[in-house]
Amino acid sequence: MNASTHPPATSPIKTLLAPWTGILSLRRACAHLRHARTLDVIGSAILLGLIWCALAFTTVLFMFGIEERVINGERNVLIRPIGDVFHNWKHEGITGTGGIVALVCFLVFVAGLITTSITQFPAIHRAGHIARSLSQALRSVLACGGLIVLLSASFGFFLVVTQHEIIITQPDEPPLSMAFLVLTGGLSWCIIILRISAANIQLRDAHNLALPDRCESCGYDLSHTPHDARCQECGQPASESVGDNTIRLGWPWQEKTTIRHWLHATFLVLFRPTRFYSRLHMRRDDEHHALFGRLHLIAMSSSAMLWMLLLLAKDDIESPWERFLIVGLVTLLVPIFGGLTHRAVALATTVVLLLSKRIADFRWAWIVMCYELPYLWLFCATTGSFITLGTMDSALFRNVVDATNRYLPTINNDPAGNLFMWVQLIVGLIWWRRMYKGVMAVRFNNA
Ligand SMILES: [Zn+2]
Repeated sequence: MNASTHPPATSPIKTLLAPWTGILSLRRACAHLRHARTLDVIGSAILLGLIWCALAFTTVLFMFGIEERVINGERNVLIRPIGDVFHNWKHEGITGTGGIVALVCFLVFVAGLITTSITQFPAIHRAGHIARSLSQALRSVLACGGLIVLLSASFGFFLVVTQHEIIITQPDEPPLSMAFLVLTGGLSWCIIILRISAANIQLRDAHNLALPDRCESCGYDLSHTPHDARCQECGQPASESVGDNTIRLGWPWQEKTTIRHWLHATFLVLFRPTRFYSRLHMRRDDEHHALFGRLHLIAMSSSAMLWMLLLLAKDDIESPWERFLIVGLVTLLVPIFGGLTHRAVALATTVVLLLSKRIADFRWAWIVMCYELPYLWLFCATTGSFITLGTMDSALFRNVVDATNRYLPTINNDPAGNLFMWVQLIVGLIWWRRMYKGVMAVRFNNA
């Protein structure tokens, strides 16, 4: 980057308040964070963390205030004011319950901030220093920080109400407020992820170096080669690699976003990957790849909803909201875990590509990773078939929970759980290999 293009740093106050500015205007928050000094960004993260921890601490105070006591053989529910609970915790000192709750709140915040920032890394890193890309990832997350605090607060509210309902009414079935808890949690997650993706795009220009043009045939740096000359390394005309007249012809999906073209692109990604990637337009900075992936997550979510409705059709659940709770849970969890799995595989791919130093820049890597999303169907299908197997009889809700718990072999040593873990691991490894090979296939046009 040219030294003369360095704009003046934003004022520390604006940086400090940027997460809150971001609630109303993401564009302004990003503008404030873009050129902010690292120290100010850290200050902003600390302020955000303090507010988040205070809210989380208060939520836990409320939850501890709801107690069940058995007096003379009779069950009584006691709701203590949070002032009382706080008073008790103060007496216990820093190593008591209060201290532990505060520490856990702090650790959850730090872990959340670090994990969210790191999962943005494959979507951000193009070239240059890793620290620069990580810094941009942190700024993207911070720009959405105020919204995250607001949504966490509404989630905390329903958490307290659910705890209250469970203790007071001791229901045989999950209380109604749990449906709201699931809805707020799932929807918040989707909103936050979309918002952070938007922030990534807003902040991108500032933190990504102007990347050199590269030869489509051999990857040679063409920044000092005139467009009408030939590549000094392999002799291919430079005009075929740069500008609008490239040898990459593109696919109809990149021209027109219709369902037919989306299905066509999906077929090619799954069954003709080399052909697909060697023709794909890679130089345009449109968002076709992101849309392609997002549509797959939406399709998966809808399919999961249909699958759950079919499973429930043969079940005799009486309460309609319990039905709604299960269907809602599955509809939201599929894109959440699907998205998380995708990010984890993408991160592993990026780290291996970085360590092996086999590509000079990552501008195409993220595009490939987005196009590799259809592979997630296999992941969902294996999970779905295991859960279906686990819910063969009636009493569905209990069975969905049991079937899901069985897949955690650390909790109990169920053979079905172990088999599930191995199957998912193998699917994940095959997927990772595909992503890696896909990135290598687009590196240069070898077709
Ligand atoms: Zn060349």
